[in-house]
Amino acid sequence: MLGINQPAVTIKNVEVSIIDKAWDSGFVTPQPPEWLSGRTVAVVGSGPAGLAAAQQLTRAGHTVAVYERADKPGGLLRYGIPEFKMEKQHLDRRLEQMKREGTVFRSGVEVGTGDLTGAALRDRYDAVVLAVGSTVPP
Ligand SMILES: Cc1cc2nc3c(=O)[nH]c(=O)nc-3n(C[C@H](O)[C@H](O)[C@H](O)COP(=O)(O)OP(=O)(O)OC[C@H]3O[C@@H](n4cnc5c(N)ncnc54)[C@H](O)[C@@H]3O)c2cc1C
Repeated sequence: MLGINQPAVTIKNVEVSIIDKAWDSGFVTPQPPEWLSGRTVAVVGSGPAGLAAAQQLTRAGHTVAVYERADKPGGLLRYGIPEFKMEKQHLDRRLEQMKREGTVFRSGVEVGTGDLTGAALRDRYDAVVLAVGSTVPP
């Protein structure tokens, strides 16, 4: 009945304070893989979908490169959501963690154009993850 007969719990604030405390206390550290699979994966798009896939694949031992057409990774986390709603430092510290785990970022590359064709990407990597988001609102 929270929010009806008692004050509502602000779940977001609870979650944010837990993870902020974890970072401040040094509990969140890079988790590089213990062994490498020898497999390579290209992730196209560096929004939350691409970043989540890249982090899991890197930690599983695959060699992962994230391609992003914008000049910096993050997708809508960086270029859509305003600073007051999510400060970019949260994104940047997560990206730093990912780099230290071994994920490689290639910004300023638009896959499917002269920069890098889809065919070239498939030739070069064992697997390709498409996490390109949408520029068209529903
Ligand atoms: C103002 C605003 C507020 C929001 N608030 C919230 C919220 O509070 N909670 C919530 O859950 N969601 C929120 N969202 C929605 C959330 O941001 C999106 O659902 C989420 O970012 C989608 O993630 P994604 O990885 O699928 O795509 P995106 O974040 O769009 O990332 C896709 C990336 O792929 C890149 N890309 C596309 N094509 C290519 C190509 N050919 N080559 C290379 N790179 C390419 C793009 O440049 C982009 O960086 C908000 C969105 C906006 C705009």
